[in-house]
Amino acid sequence: MVIPSRREKEKREVRYASAKKRAEDHEVGFQPTTYNPPDNAGNFYFNKKGVFRLDIIPFRVGEGNPFADEGEVHYERTYFAHKNVGPDEEMVVCSRKTFGEPCPICEKITKLRRDPSTDSELLQELRPKERQLWQVIDVMDRDKGIQILECSYFNGLGQLVDNKIKDSEEDDGYEKFFHLEDGMTLKVSVVQESYRGGTYYKPTNVEMKQRKQQYEVSILKEGYCLDSLLKKWDYDKLKKTFNQISEERDEEEKEDKKEKSSDYEIEDFVMYKGKECEITKISGDGTTLTLEDEDGKTYKGVKADEITTRVEVKKSGKEESKEEDEEEDEKQQVKRKKVSDEDDEEDEEEDEEDIDTDEDEDEEDDEKKDKVEKRKKVSDEDDEDDKDDNEDDDKDEEPIAGRKKRKGNIPF
Ligand SMILES: [Zn+2]
Repeated sequence: MVIPSRREKEKREVRYASAKKRAEDHEVGFQPTTYNPPDNAGNFYFNKKGVFRLDIIPFRVGEGNPFADEGEVHYERTYFAHKNVGPDEEMVVCSRKTFGEPCPICEKITKLRRDPSTDSELLQELRPKERQLWQVIDVMDRDKGIQILECSYFNGLGQLVDNKIKDSEEDDGYEKFFHLEDGMTLKVSVVQESYRGGTYYKPTNVEMKQRKQQYEVSILKEGYCLDSLLKKWDYDKLKKTFNQISEERDEEEKEDKKEKSSDYEIEDFVMYKGKECEITKISGDGTTLTLEDEDGKTYKGVKADEITTRVEVKKSGKEESKEEDEEEDEKQQVKRKKVSDEDDEEDEEEDEEDIDTDEDEDEEDDEKKDKVEKRKKVSDEDDEDDKDDNEDDDKDEEPIAGRKKRKGNIPF
């Protein structure tokens, strides 16, 4: 028996990562953050304008697929993601809409909605967006084998395929497009679009074509269970990451406030320690003031954030009560997390608000209903949220982690 030398032993322990895969991922400037790519599967991207031909490879459904039961053979995994989370602007899976578990970002959204001063754009940016995982074989590059395609429902393949099936007649056989023996090849037209100075490629049309080659049942074993690929974040860890950015925002706001305070001018009347005072002097750097009250008493070295303008006296009272509300929210959140039940009341409120903002979206509503008929098991709550996603997807679909700053291929 030959005893392996230490050197040989060490050599064996070195597991090389795939340089080819890295090169390909680097080329498109993207590492998936919402799912764990299987070791042997590459990631498929629409990386140029033109026509792609894809066969969709079905898989045996695992846990939690919203559109198929466990054990059935299905073709996609729908999930929801928040974008631009934390300092690295990562896209992360929304636990609430994907797994029915508490999600710190959704909780923040609920809180922000109650605050009338919340910027509606910020709310839209934070909302979870509908996305999908697929596994595909690129018919024009079969050597790459089964690849994972991750993309937005509304700006990727999802809606295009749904619409194609919805508009089809029975003898078209489109709804069997993903079947092993009666499947069809998807001919996907892709265009180049620009967003925030970069370019990306977006599918705009899908045609279903006769396949030249069908598949054996054995390919189910070669493929991957898409339901088991999604990355689930730990609640506390995600909250911390998400809040890193929120804290930075708060700091920025404070800075803004300071600057505004230094906008005061000499002879302005302000409130200081409950007294009306006149500003008699402002320090060179604008950070401290000298005040004189009605009785002629002078206050030196007063910081700008210690004073309020006269008109703001009432407002500062209001702010106090807002803070109390926020504390109350905080308590509710803790309670909600502990109980781990969905807070039905909050969700109901959320839905009502969604409906309010969508009253004039009848056309989309009809479309949505059709979609729901085709794609089973979607809950009412999701439906309302999706509509919002649809609305805003066009404008804010692109800034996925690390993508928006790059020129080149922004995969969908
Ligand atoms: Zn969420």
